Amino acid sequence: MNPFGLYIHWPFCLSKCPYCDFNSHVREKVDQKRWKEALLKELTHASFDAPQGVLSSIFFGGGTPSLMDPETVASLIETAKLLFPTTSYLEVTLEANPSTVEAKKFEAFSKAGVNRLSIGVQSLQDEALSFLGRRHSAKEALKALDIAETYFPRFSFDLIYARPHQTEDGWKAELKEALTYAKGHLSLYQLTIEPQTAFATRFARGETMILEEDPAAFLYELTENMMHEAGLPSYEVSNYAAPSQECQHNLLYWNFENYIGIGPGAHGRITLEGVKHATSCYKAPETWLAAVEKKGHGGEVCVPLSPSERLQEVTLMGLRLTQGLSLKRLYEETSLAPEEAYQGLSLLEKEGLLIQTPTHLVATREGRLRLNSLVSFLLNRI
Ligand code: SF4
Repeated sequence: MNPFGLYIHWPFCLSKCPYCDFNSHVREKVDQKRWKEALLKELTHASFDAPQGVLSSIFFGGGTPSLMDPETVASLIETAKLLFPTTSYLEVTLEANPSTVEAKKFEAFSKAGVNRLSIGVQSLQDEALSFLGRRHSAKEALKALDIAETYFPRFSFDLIYARPHQTEDGWKAELKEALTYAKGHLSLYQLTIEPQTAFATRFARGETMILEEDPAAFLYELTENMMHEAGLPSYEVSNYAAPSQECQHNLLYWNFENYIGIGPGAHGRITLEGVKHATSCYKAPETWLAAVEKKGHGGEVCVPLSPSERLQEVTLMGLRLTQGLSLKRLYEETSLAPEEAYQGLSLLEKEGLLIQTPTHLVATREGRLRLNSLVSFLLNRI
């Protein structure tokens, strides 16, 4: 039986971070009871068109899901278990911010059934946290990691690097400290400027907001090497894990498997009658809430993906993985062998950007650094 995932989006944050382009909104007050009922309603509706297979993971993302009532989280987990067949180990991840108030709720989330926490630490330096517009201090972050260690068998945390003026020595020391707190998984993202963010406005005004390309690539190399030496090699462009500690939910995305998405702006990929469909919900929280209360779901789009869209997605997702794109998955989704699907394979192999094994098409480290251009070239878009 194929595994599938469930993504639940909580769209609220206490403030908007200046680099963030997620579907997150600041509201003075959130009616937790009303939101709980709406999410449960949409979850039940989603079960009518569930993909074949077994539920292997639930992921509470946002926004800041650690602002949810633990009781809502517990009800959603329990209801999902009643609605879908599940694997014997059901991974349940919740994204959390490390502020003191939220860290106090970790025990309650653990009791609610969450067994994996993903904590938005972002930096272990106060100056960087203030630049990134975060509300917590480095001290609070470390305290939150200690609390997570007490209540969760698995947890991960995020750091953002390639910040302006960041030096090799500075990042090395920060990552070294982070590794002493790591429990099998870290997500290490390079700072990027996303359109329509406060950082994009400042960048357009000429402010230095990120590290230049060459030093950033150098820090990426350094990161890959340090994580490899620490026994947490990369398994995806920005994700590092000890063996068997990979995030099972995110692996579903990268392997282009099925997942249901509920909550404002949530996306899903669901195979219906043999064809992969893309689903998405209304993005604005209030529009989504009104739709669910009126018709039982906030779904805006459910469309079959065309063969070329499936090829594009399976390629872009699969090549993010260190082990590469499974040729079996490629064939299952597109009925194509790599030579039929792509142009210029041998040229890219000669350039050291791609490797073909009997089972996978693998982007080399160099190739993963240029993934978007690589995929565009493969799919004949350059
Ligand atoms: S807490 Fe996370 S989701 Fe919320 S604004 Fe900051 S980065 Fe975005």
